[in-house]
Amino acid sequence: SSSGVVPEATEDNCRPNLPLDAIINLDHGDPTMFESYWRKLGNACTVTFTGYQSLSYFSNPKNLCWFLEPKLEEEIKKLHNVVGNATVEGYRIVVGTGSSQLIQAVLYALSDPLNEPKPINVVSATPYYSSYPEVTDFVRSGLYKWAGDAHNFDKDGPYIEMVTSPSNPDGVIREPVVNRAQGTLVHDLAYYWPQYTPITSPADYDIMLFTISKCTGHAGSRIGWALVKDVDVARKMVKFIEINTIGVSKESQQRAAKILEVITDSCSQTVRTPELDNFFEYGQHHLTERWKKLKVIVKRNGLFTLPKFPLQYCNFTGDFTKAHPAFAWMKCKEDVDCEELFRGHKILTRSGKRFGSDQKYVRISMLSRDEEFDLFVQRFSAFHGIANGN
Ligand code: PMP
Repeated sequence: SSSGVVPEATEDNCRPNLPLDAIINLDHGDPTMFESYWRKLGNACTVTFTGYQSLSYFSNPKNLCWFLEPKLEEEIKKLHNVVGNATVEGYRIVVGTGSSQLIQAVLYALSDPLNEPKPINVVSATPYYSSYPEVTDFVRSGLYKWAGDAHNFDKDGPYIEMVTSPSNPDGVIREPVVNRAQGTLVHDLAYYWPQYTPITSPADYDIMLFTISKCTGHAGSRIGWALVKDVDVARKMVKFIEINTIGVSKESQQRAAKILEVITDSCSQTVRTPELDNFFEYGQHHLTERWKKLKVIVKRNGLFTLPKFPLQYCNFTGDFTKAHPAFAWMKCKEDVDCEELFRGHKILTRSGKRFGSDQKYVRISMLSRDEEFDLFVQRFSAFHGIANGN
């Protein structure tokens, strides 16, 4: 293995320091924090392709999901088994161009226009992931429509409830809230990984969505996967992806498979080399450090509050830990437009309004590169008051 080989300095890995007055964009959950881990591995995860590879549309014609690369399927199963965050036995795996595509595929698969002429209602409890309403209503489908906060849902008939656990934006472990017989649940488990939250049991819901974006940080590869119990639902999701993009990039799948293989190896005492830190411990450690810094400032300036997380036993690490979410969901104690307040300090955040909540809240990404996080901390610690805008 060539891990441990120091990568050559290129323009890309010799980023100049950020200017002190740079705009810091913490609006998106762009997971660049993990770059430092992958950089240390040098060429250990390099995947190359020759000109004659990956020409066919098909990956495995015998599989229900005929565009799923067998190697990716294998590595997804291995990783879930090692981490213990989801059951894979008895599930179909459907790969998507990010879990974003799978969200659309699942809405299509769960609608039933022959028996239900009206669009099926899609709900999620506030604060919900801001993409759900956008994705649901963007092309004004006649099959499904956004019906808002699950807490206020009082219509009859079938519905789809998106359950995001841990939740984006607030990191809290979620349960379904409507609880009626005609509902179908979609569990979006993008953040159910040990660097973010204690792994308390293997999830075994009927429909579970995962993404490499938040697991390893490779958001740019655009790979997500669904674990689906019902064969017909899986088949309809596959059909959607066939019509939408005729499958998912093989190069991306091969690369994702390699990345997953490496993090699985990094969890194993026997396979691990001294250069290969346990990926999840590395992530957890860095997020813990960042959360510590943030909490000190929040406590000192007294202007904001953060959610509280219980101490829980994590089956993966074998320790009692608290969550260290990918986002800080910050509430301002005064009634101000919090997003605007941060923007005044050249810090871009996402307003609580986008999550079905209010402007006193902002969501701040905790997954930026070190230099951006450090500058954020420096600027945030200089906040003194709110009313006078400084
Ligand atoms: N679900 C949740 C809860 C997310 O936070 C995200 C990314 N922000 C996604 C799905 C989509 O991720 P991707 O399309 O990159 O796989």
